[in-house]
Amino acid sequence: MINIVIFGAPGSGKGTQSEKIVAKYGFGHISTGDVLRNEIKNKTILGKTAKAYIDKGQLIPDSLMTDILARVYDTMRDSKGVIFDGFPRTIPQAENLNKLLAERGEDLSAMIELDVPQDELMKRLINRGKTSGRSDDNEKTIKQRLDVYHNQTSPLVEWYQQKGKRHSIDGLGDLERIFADICQVIDKL
Ligand code: AMP
Repeated sequence: MINIVIFGAPGSGKGTQSEKIVAKYGFGHISTGDVLRNEIKNKTILGKTAKAYIDKGQLIPDSLMTDILARVYDTMRDSKGVIFDGFPRTIPQAENLNKLLAERGEDLSAMIELDVPQDELMKRLINRGKTSGRSDDNEKTIKQRLDVYHNQTSPLVEWYQQKGKRHSIDGLGDLERIFADICQVIDKL
């Protein structure tokens, strides 16, 4: 089974490109942000806990997030592949993902990074906020999320690089060109 982490800052295009990967390759897609937003919509206890963090632009605690991820991953074991979108966001989460995969006789195939400059991210997220209806797509929370990315998530770039798993793609420009670059990586796995 192919296991891919699609990686990048908020607004880097992970969700958009994941949809295109799903359409072309028929992989399962786990967006941890979508999972949490769904819990909020369904007013579950988990949703209530998650909302407090999401609305502040902060990360949900690692152990809780890993439990959620394992639960969703185990529903996708019959897929040809799985895309992890929005997970991991910290080094402990990445370690937990490796452990979770190893426990199931699996391995991470690749980390595909969408590289987008900070000022472009800000622009995209403010624009998305006009239509997304997301409570965290407002200027103050966007700034907080980009800080969290910089401080807690971006160290994963080097972490995956050292493990020989990182494939960096220029995430600025034409959607189809970006997707073609992603396909080149996947087709070699
Ligand atoms: P996203 O839709 O991926 O931008 O995620 C929206 C929000 O959900 C984030 O700002 C976090 O508050 C929370 N979240 C999503 N994925 C994770 C994760 N892997 N670890 C911690 N919090 C997460």
